[in-house]
Amino acid sequence: MKQSLYSCPNCSNMELTYDGVKKYYCTACGWEFYQNTAAAVAGIFEYKDKILAVERNRDPGKGLFDFPGGFVDPFETAENALRREIKEELHVDLDQLEYLCTSPNLYTFKGIEYSTCDIFYLAHLDAEITKLDKSEIASIHWLEKSDLMPERFAFRSMQEAIKIYTSHKL
Ligand SMILES: [Zn+2]
Repeated sequence: MKQSLYSCPNCSNMELTYDGVKKYYCTACGWEFYQNTAAAVAGIFEYKDKILAVERNRDPGKGLFDFPGGFVDPFETAENALRREIKEELHVDLDQLEYLCTSPNLYTFKGIEYSTCDIFYLAHLDAEITKLDKSEIASIHWLEKSDLMPERFAFRSMQEAIKIYTSHKL
């Protein structure tokens, strides 16, 4: 049985309807599916008056700057999601996190658009980063606060977070 987002996985009706926002439904059998907003986390990390930016090595946004982070897993807190991601990507143990803001984003992966609510935290690192996960990060960069140019970052949520961060911190 062929299944896709465009045929009903319950009754195979080929006329699955999309409400244009988040709901897919089948008028033949009543099946409904909600593609709800996913929670994601990212960290703005300070070390000796510089800010950590990582270069993405895969799409979406390959070659552009990113703040380290990722999706929140089921039954996980946002704080622990960020701690887990940073441990995986940068081999750093995070303790204190300071909430900064949230910002909506659209994340396109393999042709499917995911609506996310990105949660941003600030943290101070007490050591240089020496190891990184090359499968996710091409390189790391330490930027002056005055060099945090939103247009160099891959996602609009990060561009918004930079505006909020710099308006608080400069
Ligand atoms: Zn159906």
